[in-house]
Amino acid sequence: MSKPVAKPPTIHDGCPQPRPEWVPDAAGAGFTTWVMQGVRTAGVEATPANPRPRRKTLEIEDYVRGVIARDLTILGRAITLVESNASRHRAKAQQVLQELLPQTGRAKRIGITGIPGAGKSTFIEALGCNLTQQGHRVAVLAIDPSSTRTGGSILADKVRMEKLGRDPNAFIRPSPAGGSLGGVARKTREAIMMCEAAGYDVIIVETVGVGQSEVTVRSMVDCFIVLMIAGAGDEMQGIKKGIIEMADMLVINKADGDNRVRCMVTLAEMKRVLPYLNSSSAGWKTPALLASAREGSGIAEIWRVAGQFFKTLEATGELGSRRREQAVEWMHALIEESLRKQFYEREDVRSRLPQIEHRVSEGQLPPLAAALDLIRGEAVTAS
Ligand code: GDP
Repeated sequence: MSKPVAKPPTIHDGCPQPRPEWVPDAAGAGFTTWVMQGVRTAGVEATPANPRPRRKTLEIEDYVRGVIARDLTILGRAITLVESNASRHRAKAQQVLQELLPQTGRAKRIGITGIPGAGKSTFIEALGCNLTQQGHRVAVLAIDPSSTRTGGSILADKVRMEKLGRDPNAFIRPSPAGGSLGGVARKTREAIMMCEAAGYDVIIVETVGVGQSEVTVRSMVDCFIVLMIAGAGDEMQGIKKGIIEMADMLVINKADGDNRVRCMVTLAEMKRVLPYLNSSSAGWKTPALLASAREGSGIAEIWRVAGQFFKTLEATGELGSRRREQAVEWMHALIEESLRKQFYEREDVRSRLPQIEHRVSEGQLPPLAAALDLIRGEAVTAS
């Protein structure tokens, strides 16, 4: 026999006040006045003007404890904190990161790039699901400086990784909204640290293969995978060399159906070219592999080769030295970003810059003299 269904509680339950006199006798529970009365008795935070209780402000210890306890809500809020440009949030975020530092650095950091349509999302979903089935915990982050919260960004649409998005052992975070590549990169680096502290042992950072963003991702991951497709056209060939020399693994995707033969031709081409190119990591020869992200073929092999990559680089010490170099480079990038910001925010620089720019553009003042003058904050002597 089925259990009797309990009547859902209403806001009148336990309400000590009698029914207000202006409420019609025939008014049912849905009569608006009851709602008003319920809100009034519900507590100080819920008022008609501010019906939702405000989120509790988290203290540094709350973030630290929550992230280490793998609380996904707190991890999400910790990443939101590092993404904030407000200086008080930045100071707080740095303290949280400082506390979490001993818990970071244990994940395998994988970068994935490829032109739009190469199949990055499909590939990450296939790889991510394969890894979670093996017991890994996978975080997927993205770098796309052109993105905004409202559209156009890679990973903005979680539907693109629907299955992985539902996996309890995966965490997907879209690219931080807009801004300079440097700013977006800082936020992503800090998000990597947060995810590592939350116990994710594989971090995948996705970026589109245009502009400088792949150089940036290369500078924050251990293993960089370039996803290619067969016959992408001549304009692709121009950028290939530079990007291919950054890769630790080349994957020719969409090797399925009628396309498989074309992919095999591209694979053979790549194998011919690779020995003549510089390799990205000392002691490692960049391999080229076939995959079909859609069918899932080649994915296990790619992870096996990634395992060899980590083993090789750990044995040679290259992995450790790469990470140390990346940390120092990052510090210098932060110094430059901060000095630049301080300089352009200086009152004297802001007031004098337009006039000095004009004089430089008119050839009345040499650029070097103008720059030094602005930096030193002296009056321009040349006329
Ligand atoms: P992204 O822009 O690089 O993230 O590419 P997507 O993952 O969104 O994929 C672009 C298109 O290629 C989609 O229509 C996918 O279904 C398709 N696609 C992705 N991987 C494969 C594959 O391995 N084989 C085939 N045939 N199509 C694929």
